Amino acid sequence: AHDFNNVLTIVRGYTELLIWDKGQDSPGYSELNTIHDAAKRGAELVKQILTFSRKVETNPRILNLNDEVRKTEKLLYRIIPKMIDLDVVLTEDLMNVHADPAQVEQVLMNLALNANHAMPDGGTLRIETQNVMLDEEYCKRHIGAGRRSETGDGGLQPGAHVQISVSDTGCGMDKETLDRVFEPFFTTKHQGEGTGLGLAMVYGIVQGHNGQIYCFSKPGTGTTFEIYLPACEEEREVTVADSQIFKSFGTETILMVDDEDPIRDLGSKILKKAGYSVLTASNGTDAIEMYLKYQNDIALVLMDFIMPEMGGKECMEKLLAIDPNVKIVIASGYTLDSDTREAFQKGAKGFLEKPFRINEVQRMVRRVLDERADK
Ligand code: ADP
Ligand code: MG
Repeated sequence: AHDFNNVLTIVRGYTELLIWDKGQDSPGYSELNTIHDAAKRGAELVKQILTFSRKVETNPRILNLNDEVRKTEKLLYRIIPKMIDLDVVLTEDLMNVHADPAQVEQVLMNLALNANHAMPDGGTLRIETQNVMLDEEYCKRHIGAGRRSETGDGGLQPGAHVQISVSDTGCGMDKETLDRVFEPFFTTKHQGEGTGLGLAMVYGIVQGHNGQIYCFSKPGTGTTFEIYLPACEEEREVTVADSQIFKSFGTETILMVDDEDPIRDLGSKILKKAGYSVLTASNGTDAIEMYLKYQNDIALVLMDFIMPEMGGKECMEKLLAIDPNVKIVIASGYTLDSDTREAFQKGAKGFLEKPFRINEVQRMVRRVLDERADK
């Protein structure tokens, strides 16, 4: 790609020199301009290939992806036809990411334009942002979905992520296409309509940001692209609006029980940011011990359901034996199965599905805290 770029630089540079010397009505002026435009377009394609192989510099800074989506939204209103509904759903207190704004825009534009192509008769293009907390199990299950992995990992690290999803209600893809979407030069479009480099570039950019992209699609049912970028560890500058949101959350003490260090640390960071005091325990036995010690202070227990040794169910039963009014919120990677439902009936006051959505954690905790004790 670099050698080819050099070739194009020569073509472009000398054409520019010739144009420079010529007046607009000189013979060959418009032909030279055509050559110049073609060389420029060639250089853009090379840049896309280089992006795929992560050879393009990124200029990351702390960004709120909502702002980038809003910018892209404005551009899209001008580009996409009226019969396509643009539906933008932004999570209000989205966490920041470390990203290159120009590249994020390229990603969104590429996905949106593909969606546009997939809906020649109209439909809905939806762009959503969300805070998600990924645990180890989720990351394990999702390894390598982006297929190409030089380092052999190709997966995500547990922790807080910002998710952007772009979905359409268009033609969708069959399995063969789905398997190859991120491949450079893979296209199902007619010559001149597609280069097959759009998604290759998107893939390269996401990888360059230590993120992952997944594609879900079926013929006739539309397509969804999900992108996960690691959320910034750095504290966001707290604006007035932010501090008001957080102030409204609470000051009670919460016991957070989870066997995974990163999840526990993160959970307590989120709760602390919302104003709560947080105690932590890494297993059921510690949780019981903590509860016995600080029973009068602890207003709520947020507990992982699946833990080694003493599982969530047993731990909950013991806590209920100590205090029948204890407020417990269960967190689990599985949706309500019979075990969890039984746990609910036995006295858990709330259920949080993993991977956590950060605002859901905050909302659920507040809701359960506000419930009357006799309920
Ligand atoms: P191009 O758009 O130039 O074909 P891309 O890399 O952007 O290249 O996409 C590769 C192929 O993936 C497309 O040709 C198309 O077959 C498929 N594709 C991408 N996005 C969608 C979508 N939203 N719906 C259906 N098919 C899609
Ligand atoms: Mg494309």
